[in-house]
Amino acid sequence: MEANIDTPVQYLKGVGPHLGRAFQKRGITTIEDLIHWYPRGYQDRRAARKISDLKEGELVSLRAQVVGVRSQNLGRSKRKMWDVVLRDSSGVIHCKYFRTPYKGYFERFSPNMFVRVEGQVTLYRGNIEFHHPDIRDDESDDENLDAIIPLYTETEGLSPRRISKIISLAFNRLEGKIEETLPRWLLEKYKLPPREVSLRALHIPPEESGLDFSQRKSKYHRRVIFEEFFWMQLVLMSRKSTAIRLKAHQMSGNSSTIKAFIESLPFSLTHDQEKALGEIIEDLNCPHPMHRLVQGDVGSGKTAVAFLAAAYTLVNGNQCALMAPTEILCEQHYKKAKEIFEPLGFKVGFLTGRMKKSERELISNQLTSGEISLVIGTHALIQEDVDFKSLGLAIIDEQHRFGVHQRRLLKTKGLSPHFLVMTATPIPRSLAMTLYGDLDVSLIKESPRGRKPVVTRVVFESKRAQVMGFMETQIKAGRQVYIILPLVEESEKMDLKDAINEYEKLKKQYPKIRFGLIHGRMKSEEKEESMNLFRQGKLDALVSTTVIEVGVDVPNANMILIEHSERFGLSQLHQLRGRVGRGEHKSYCVLMLGNAVSEDSRNRVRVMAETNNGFEIADRDLEIRGPGDFLGTRQSGLEGFKMANMVRDFEILVEARKAAQEVIARDPNLSRPEHSKLKMELSRGDGFLALATSG
Ligand code: ADP
Ligand code: MG
Repeated sequence: MEANIDTPVQYLKGVGPHLGRAFQKRGITTIEDLIHWYPRGYQDRRAARKISDLKEGELVSLRAQVVGVRSQNLGRSKRKMWDVVLRDSSGVIHCKYFRTPYKGYFERFSPNMFVRVEGQVTLYRGNIEFHHPDIRDDESDDENLDAIIPLYTETEGLSPRRISKIISLAFNRLEGKIEETLPRWLLEKYKLPPREVSLRALHIPPEESGLDFSQRKSKYHRRVIFEEFFWMQLVLMSRKSTAIRLKAHQMSGNSSTIKAFIESLPFSLTHDQEKALGEIIEDLNCPHPMHRLVQGDVGSGKTAVAFLAAAYTLVNGNQCALMAPTEILCEQHYKKAKEIFEPLGFKVGFLTGRMKKSERELISNQLTSGEISLVIGTHALIQEDVDFKSLGLAIIDEQHRFGVHQRRLLKTKGLSPHFLVMTATPIPRSLAMTLYGDLDVSLIKESPRGRKPVVTRVVFESKRAQVMGFMETQIKAGRQVYIILPLVEESEKMDLKDAINEYEKLKKQYPKIRFGLIHGRMKSEEKEESMNLFRQGKLDALVSTTVIEVGVDVPNANMILIEHSERFGLSQLHQLRGRVGRGEHKSYCVLMLGNAVSEDSRNRVRVMAETNNGFEIADRDLEIRGPGDFLGTRQSGLEGFKMANMVRDFEILVEARKAAQEVIARDPNLSRPEHSKLKMELSRGDGFLALATSG
C-alpha cells in the first residue's frame, strides 16, 4: 500500500489495531502525528553517566542494578509511596513513585537485575533522587549497539524500542514525501537543513552527531524549533502588516454610545477602566481587527471593561463571543451578563462542551440567525462548528489559561472579528514582547476605590484552633469563607478524595456551619449548584480544589484558608487570594503550611504576606523558580510548542522573529511564488482567523 502522511498509523507494518489504539491514547492517529511525536530526550550511550555525578534538574538515562523495592504508606492516608532503590559502581539512588504507572510495574523488579532508568534528577532534602522515572529491563548487554537512543515516554504495551522501530519504518515509507514548508532562500540564509532530513534526524539520530545532540543542540533540532517560532511570529507580524491585514467590522461612536450600559453598572468606573475602554473603542472604530490585551491584577475589574466592549459591539449591530477557561467562571459571567444585557434588549447565550447536543445545536442555530447577541462559553465555543451571523468581537478571559494549541480558529462569515484578551498574569517584559508579539496592551493598575489589601498570614498546624475560631467569628458576622485543598501529585482522583474527606470532617466538627463542596470531578450541575448556593449566601464555607482559582467573584466572601500552601506557586496563591478582597469587607488570607515543609518553601510562601501586588509577586516567583519553571506550564501556554522552549531556545526565537520580519519586508502581500506556501498556511481556511493569543 502507498503510504503518505495521512495514512493511519495502524496500517504500518507491525502496528495493527491493537497498537494503533495504544498510539491513539497518546493522540497519535496518522503517520503525520507519529513523526511529530518528538522524543522527550535522548540517551547518549557514548557518554555513560554515573550516579555519583548526577546534577539536579538534568534529564538523564543510566544503567544500574536493582537493590530492592519498598513501599510505605503516606501519612495516615491509604496512599502508598513506592521506592525502587538502584545502584551502580559509583553509588545508590532512590526512585520514588507516588502512584503506580501501571499494574504490575513494581513486581517486575528483582534484586541484582540490570535496568535502564530515565528521568529528571530531583533534589529532595539534600539528596539526589528520581521521581517517577521510567525504568525498564536492560538485561541485554548491548551497551554499544546504538550511539544515541531517542527516549519516548513509556506506555503500557509500547516500549521505547518498539516505538523507535515503528517510527523508522514510517520514515522509510515516506521517503521524499515530507514536503518543505519554508522558502529556499530562508533555509539558505539561516542555514537550516531540509524538513524531512531534520524530522528524520530527531527520531533516528545520525551516527556522526556531536555530544550536544542529546541536549537538543543539533542543526536538526534548531531547524524544527526555528520553524515553530517562525510560524508564531509570522502570524503575529502579519497582523501588523497592513497589506495582508484582514478587514474587520468597523464600528462607530464613543463611550456615550453605551451610556445606558455604563449607568446600569452598580458602580462608577475607575480611571483605568475608563481609559482601557476608550482604547478599545478606538480600536473597534478601525477597519482592521483589534488585537488588544487588557492586563490588570486580580480584582481590578476587567469584567466590566469586557462587558462594556461587548455592549459597544452589540449596539453597533454585531455579535460578541466571550470565552472563559472554566465552566464555573462562564456560568458567573453568564449570570451577570444577563442582568445587564437583557433589560436593554439583547439576548445572551451560554455554550459549554458539557451541554447536551440538542441544547448546543439550539444555541448554535441562534448564533447563526443572529438571535443571540452575546454568547458566553468555554472553549467549546471554538471547538463547536458554530457559525455566527456577524461576529464583531471575540473576548478571551484569563487568557493565560488557554494554551497555544487551543489557538484554534473561530469561524465567522464575512469579516474578521476584533480580539480582546484579558489576563491577570504578569510576565517579564522580554518574554511578553515575543509572546504577545504585536498585541497592544491596556493596563489596569489601580483597584476600585475603597479596597483594602487582603491581610495575609502564614501559619503552622499548631495555630489551627485559632484559625478555625477566627473563621467561626467571620461566619457569625455574616461573611463567607473558602477552604482550598491542593492538588496532590497531579492526580485528580487523590486530590478529590482529600477535598471530600476534609469536607466530611469539617461538617462533623462544625455542625452549625453550612459547608459546601466543589471540585473538578463533580458534574456541571453539581458544581453549579454549590456555586449558586454559595453565591446566594446559603452556604457559609466552600471546601474547594483550585477549580475556583480564576475569576470567581463572590464579594461577601472575605476569608480564604489555603491548606498546604507550600504546594502552590506564588502566582497561583495570588490568584487564589484574589477570590477575597472583592467587596467592602476587610479580608483575610490564611496560608497553612504542612508539617514537613522545607525552610525554602516556608520563605517562599512568606513572600505572600509581604506584598499584595501581583506584578511584584510574579517577579519574585520568577526569581525563585527561574524562567524555565515560571514559564514551564500553562503560565504562558508554552505547551503549545512541541519542541521549542521559549527560555532555553530564546536565541532561536530571536532569529525566527527576524526571519519573519524579513519575509514581510520583502513581500508584504506574500504574493511571490516562493511564498505561496506561507500564504496558504497563514490564510488557511479563508475567512478564519487565528485566535489572538500566542500565550
Ligand atoms: P478581575 O479583574 O479579577 O476580573 P472582576 O472584574 O471580577 O475582577 O471585578 C472584581 C470585583 O470588583 C467585582 O465584584 C466587580 O463587581 C467589582 N468592581 C469592578 N469594577 C469596579 C469599580 N469601578 N468600582 C467598584 N467595584 C468594582
Ligand atoms: Mg476576571
